[in-house]
Amino acid sequence: MPVKVLSGENAFLENCRMLKDFGSRCLIVCGGSSAEKSGALGDVRDFFARIGIEYCVFDRIEQNPRTQTARDAGDEAAAFSADFILGIGGGSPLDAAKAVAFYAKNPALQHYDIYTDFSKLERLPVALIGTTAGTGSEVTAVAVLTDSRDGKKKSICGDNSFADIAFCDAKYTHSMPYSVTVSTALDAFAHAVESFLALNRNEMSIVFAERAISLLWDSLVYFDKTGNPPDADRREKLYTASIFGGYSICVTGTLFPHALGYVLSEDYGIPHGKACTAFMPALIDFVLRDEDGKKRRCSRLFELCKTDCGTFKETIKRLTDVNIKMTAAEVEEYCKRWNDGTKNFLKTPGIMKLADAKQIMLDLFA
Ligand code: NAP
Ligand code: ZN
Repeated sequence: MPVKVLSGENAFLENCRMLKDFGSRCLIVCGGSSAEKSGALGDVRDFFARIGIEYCVFDRIEQNPRTQTARDAGDEAAAFSADFILGIGGGSPLDAAKAVAFYAKNPALQHYDIYTDFSKLERLPVALIGTTAGTGSEVTAVAVLTDSRDGKKKSICGDNSFADIAFCDAKYTHSMPYSVTVSTALDAFAHAVESFLALNRNEMSIVFAERAISLLWDSLVYFDKTGNPPDADRREKLYTASIFGGYSICVTGTLFPHALGYVLSEDYGIPHGKACTAFMPALIDFVLRDEDGKKRRCSRLFELCKTDCGTFKETIKRLTDVNIKMTAAEVEEYCKRWNDGTKNFLKTPGIMKLADAKQIMLDLFA
C-alpha cells in the first residue's frame, strides 16, 4: 500500500506543504457541494493562495461517477496544464480523481478504454482528501466507475492506480448528513467483514479488519438504538475504521455482496454501503454452511461484535432497510454479468456459484 497517509487532526493543514512537490498547477476534482460544506475546499483555497499554487475546480462529479465525466475532467486538467489532481469528497470524487489523472495525461484515451488500458499508462500525481467515512478509497487502488456506455459499475485496480498522498482528517466528515453517515459506515463495515471472512485473507488484513469491525459495530449499534448522528469522537473512530477497512481490502478485495450490490445502486438508486450490506445476512448464512471449517470465522466475528448471530443480522437488516422488488426475469438478466469464475464468488468461503447468487437475489427481492 504505497499511499503516503497523513491522518489525524489538522492532517491537511499541517502537511499540505508537501503538495508543492507535485507542481504549481492543480485541478481540484469534487462533487457539487461536499467539498465546500466539509470545509476542505476552503482550507485548500487558503493554502493554495498562500503558497502560490494555481488551481481550477471541476465540481461536476456525480455519485457513482461516470467514465465520461472523468474524461471531461481529464480534458479540463489538460487544458489547464495541471501538474497534479486533488480529489476532495467521498468515494465518488476520490475514485474519479484517480481516473482523471490517467485521462489528463492521455488525451487520446477513450473514456471506456480506461478499464483495459490504465495499467500501461502514465498519469498525473494524485492527492486525496476524504469527506466520508466509508469507502477507504483514500488507501485502495480501486476506482469504481460507471461505464457511460451501459450504466454498469466496473472497477480499475492496479499497482499504478493508488493515490500518491491522502489527507485523512475526520473533521471534514462532520458535515455528512445522517443518512450518508450510516450508509458509509455500513460500507466500511462491509469491507471489514468481507475481508475478515475472505479465503485469501492474511495476518495483515486480519489485524486491520478485526480492529475496524470492533470500532464500527459499536457505532452501528448506536445508530440503530438512537437514530442520532455521531459526536466528534465517534466520527474520528468511524473515519479511522474506514481507513482500516480500506487497508484490509487492499489485501483481499471484497466478496459477493459487493458484486451483487452494484445492481442495487445502478438500477434502484440504493447508496453503495446499503447496497452491499443488503447481502450481508445472506453472506453470513452462506459462510455458516461452509463444510470446510471456515464457518468458525463467523463465531469470531460475533465475538468481536460482542453479539450473537441473530442480533447481528437483525441490526444490519434494520440499518440497511432496502425494500425493493424484482421479477424473476430481471434477476435472470442481472445474473448474466456473473459466472462461476467471478472472483468475488471464488473468495467466499464455501465457494459461491452463479446458481447460489441467483437464489440469493430471488430470495431477497423476487
Ligand atoms: P459519495 O457518492 O462520494 O457521496 C454521497 C453523498 O454524500 C453525495 O451527495 C455527497 O455530496 C455527499 N457528501 C459526501 N461527503 C459529505 C460531507 N462531508 N458533507 C456533506 N455531504 C457530503 O459517497 P461514498 O459512499 O463515499 O462513495 C461511494 C462511491 O465509492 C461509489 O461509487 C462506490 O462504488 C465507491 N467505492 C469505492 C471504493 C474504493 O475502494 N475505491 C470502495 C467502496 C466504494 P457531493 O455530491 O457534493 O460530493
Ligand atoms: Zn464498498
